[in-house]
Amino acid sequence: MGIHPWDAAESTLSEALARMEGVCSDPHCIAIGEVGLDRLRGPALAEQERVLRAQLDLAQVQDLPVILHDVRSTSDLLRIRKDYPRQQWILHGFRGTPELAEQCLGKGFHISLGPGLLKSAQRGASLGAVIPPDRLFLESDDSDRDIREMYDAVASWTGMQVSALLAQIEDNFHKVFGVQS
Ligand SMILES: [Zn+2]
Repeated sequence: MGIHPWDAAESTLSEALARMEGVCSDPHCIAIGEVGLDRLRGPALAEQERVLRAQLDLAQVQDLPVILHDVRSTSDLLRIRKDYPRQQWILHGFRGTPELAEQCLGKGFHISLGPGLLKSAQRGASLGAVIPPDRLFLESDDSDRDIREMYDAVASWTGMQVSALLAQIEDNFHKVFGVQS
């Protein structure tokens, strides 16, 4: 459950937050997201940040992990992180440099790789080399690519067997989302 940065209008925030508070207290709600910052789309960044922070506060109260949308805003997220140092944050659709990934990992983020990387295997391999398996998630996002393509690609980028990768991601899911099988 979350207000995406593209829709992060402050004018409707209090109403949307009230609705979120109700939904997020339901045990079936296992995460807040996608929320975040987008420099290329949506309202002004300061407005997006206020809407994001309101939802991070809610995640804090409800003790929920947060799935983050980030377009050219990683430095802002690293700054905001200082106020939420122990939350479980998953940066989705990561396509940045290995150096940027290491900065985020250093602040405790998890990183999710998606189909945007399938056409740049070199970047994928360089990310696979720096992201520890226990900090990794895979996604198909809203593409029509099969998630199995991500498993095959990331297995080759990390040198892991697909079966080991499956087990690892499942374990990460249980730990971060607090959901048991
Ligand atoms: Zn997104």
